Amino acid sequence: MRILLDEAGLSWDEAWKITQGTFAYTNHTVVPEALEEWSVSIFEELLPRHLQIIYEINFNFLKEVREKFSFSEEVISKLSIIRDSPDKRIRMANLAIVSCHSVNGVAALHSNILKQLIFNDFYTIFPKKFKNVTNGITFRRWIRHANPLLSSLISDRIGDDWILHNEKIVEIEKFAEDHEFLNDWSHIKWFNKQLLAKFIKSEYGLNVSTDSIFDVHIKRFHEYKRQLLNVLHVITLYNRIKENPRYDATPRTVIFAGKAAPAYHIAKLIIKLIHSVADVVNNDPVVGDKLKVIFIANYGVSLAERIIPAADLSEQISTAGLEASGTGNMKFALNGALTIGTMDGANIEIREEVGDENIFIFGLLADEVLELRASGYNPRDYYDRIPELRRVINMIAGNIFSPAEPGIFQPIIDSLMGSDYYMLLADYEDYVRVQDEVALTYRDRDKWNKMSLLNTARIAKFSSDRAIMEYAKNIWNIKPVKVKVDK
Ligand SMILES: *Cc1c(COP(=O)(O)O)cnc(C)c1O
Repeated sequence: MRILLDEAGLSWDEAWKITQGTFAYTNHTVVPEALEEWSVSIFEELLPRHLQIIYEINFNFLKEVREKFSFSEEVISKLSIIRDSPDKRIRMANLAIVSCHSVNGVAALHSNILKQLIFNDFYTIFPKKFKNVTNGITFRRWIRHANPLLSSLISDRIGDDWILHNEKIVEIEKFAEDHEFLNDWSHIKWFNKQLLAKFIKSEYGLNVSTDSIFDVHIKRFHEYKRQLLNVLHVITLYNRIKENPRYDATPRTVIFAGKAAPAYHIAKLIIKLIHSVADVVNNDPVVGDKLKVIFIANYGVSLAERIIPAADLSEQISTAGLEASGTGNMKFALNGALTIGTMDGANIEIREEVGDENIFIFGLLADEVLELRASGYNPRDYYDRIPELRRVINMIAGNIFSPAEPGIFQPIIDSLMGSDYYMLLADYEDYVRVQDEVALTYRDRDKWNKMSLLNTARIAKFSSDRAIMEYAKNIWNIKPVKVKVDK
């Protein structure tokens, strides 16, 4: 607007039309700390002309809303681009919605939550602006480059067209009953696990068995992603093994990686708890190969490329309603890992694609999370009712994992037994139940391998090529240009 008005000398109406026609807003998260609000006092000093223009945009917008709708003043103040109290701030999401011709979420559930909850009043005003484009990942990086052995096996059977035309990967589904092929399939997974085991041995000196389930939870650390729920399950398994040394556990290696924001105290503390639990579990002779826990440092794309091809189980266990899409979930399924997950983000659409019998779903639904919170959620009810859960919480509180630093994990206990905003205790029982199902299924090697193959075969929807084409068609209104390439 500033360039068009001040430098190109256009009228307000001409400039506004070009601006709205040009910009589209993709929302990537519903967590409030990510919906930016910029202080007006700083804006005034640094960008005074822009601030004038924003005030004018807001004035025009609110005037039109008042003319066309009969919102209360309370709703009008929520719609305003300027937040008045406690201090004046510019709501960047509101500015984006008003100024763009399109607003989209990044998975079907997320786009619906934007319409029904987060931006509901805007949706009333601009119903046609709101769209969905489910995220995707590039198959070139996440299988062709990261998993060359699996890529070669696929190309041996169906040719290599699938690398350019990702939807053709579905053709490997015809080998789902081919015992010999499934053997080759599982051998590649085993080999990738061997490579990761060597890396873990050389970096951390820890021996992990490639016969164990590689149970992988790698992503940024945030309470809503619930790495802590996974830790509660790890301690549960530890207790079962300790209680009954002949307990017939399916061996597991639980792998974590991920960074926490520098000032996010409790997320850092959860990372520390993982290290502390790993210290106890990995050095207990009773446990042996039945359970190992490892935190791999310095998570980033290069590490993800190493770990994902070696994963058996993909942990996608966010509190329902909070993971906009997730893309890690897609990378794992593409590489033949089975998902244990909640009905959140793109997990819902992954289930639709691979089939309910080829994914492990548990936990509250997004609307159940909201209902339970509204009706007065009390985590203590679960603590009182579920003995295995109570024991795990008591162990963390009782410094079993922190003998040298008593009390250090108290903030985690206070969070779980206080509001437990992310409802770990409410989902614990169902999570453990489905993890037991995972362990049983893993023992049926033919069944697991077939499920693994079907995940890879049916994941083509989550190609970024498909996502980009949808942006081009439905949001940018552009058509592909044919380019001649010399071969
Ligand atoms: C894919 C990816 C993510 C996103 O993972 P989610 O599980 O969807 O949160 C984050 N970081 C890296 C390095 C990734 O490769």
